[in-house]
Amino acid sequence: MRISVISLLSGVLASLLFAGTATAGVLEQNGPVPAAGKSPETNNPVYHSGKFEIKACEEQPINPDDLDAARVYLEFVLDCLNTSWQDQLTKARIPFSKPKFVTTSRAGVPTGCGKFPKGAQAVYCPYNKKITFLLDPGILSQATELFLFEVLAHEYGHHVQQLSGIMNAVGNRKYKNEKATLAAIRKIELQAECFSGAFIGSVWQALGRRESDFTYVAQAAYDTASHGKSKNIAFWLRRGFDAETPDVCNTFSAPAAKVS
Ligand SMILES: [Zn+2]
Repeated sequence: MRISVISLLSGVLASLLFAGTATAGVLEQNGPVPAAGKSPETNNPVYHSGKFEIKACEEQPINPDDLDAARVYLEFVLDCLNTSWQDQLTKARIPFSKPKFVTTSRAGVPTGCGKFPKGAQAVYCPYNKKITFLLDPGILSQATELFLFEVLAHEYGHHVQQLSGIMNAVGNRKYKNEKATLAAIRKIELQAECFSGAFIGSVWQALGRRESDFTYVAQAAYDTASHGKSKNIAFWLRRGFDAETPDVCNTFSAPAAKVS
């Protein structure tokens, strides 16, 4: 049975945002100070950074059921993400730093944002800027799919949200009820999908993969209140992919139907 990883990503982020003001002090320590009178999530230089200019990314051989190969594979993808996003954020004059990255073979390990939740494939914690990636037998059995690549690019999207002040702005706002909070989380999650798509699109030629690999990942998600409807997840992933730039990823100014 296939694991629909995309829909299961950020339980930790949800609990962070639900925690409200208790997290605000920590979140405020990170990310650039937004311009006066502007909302970093709707007015952000990352939306004016243009196309990714770096087109290179080398995928390593990956075999099913091979933990070491999967680890090496992810490290190479992470290198690509670091190189491309450093260049992109530098263009936008947003200070860049690499995220920390660890893999784990089981849920329950500490992430910096509580224990790694069951059912998640990967977690980004904004406090320590760390991606924790689950490599268990289930995901390793389908390691040749584009899933690993896409999930890491999605988590990296959360890191970009942190570096650009978007995560702080959203995390520090007060929401009047759970419905409003979930709406904000969906915009965060769908934007991470769009950032992921933009990066994947920019290096797609270099990867030499089949179009069907991407289509498959784009169609794998299902509806959840925190990540959105599957058609919207696919929409934002594809939108970034086609444009090869985060300029098209402003989910915070999008029509409600596109972030439902
Ligand atoms: Zn996420």
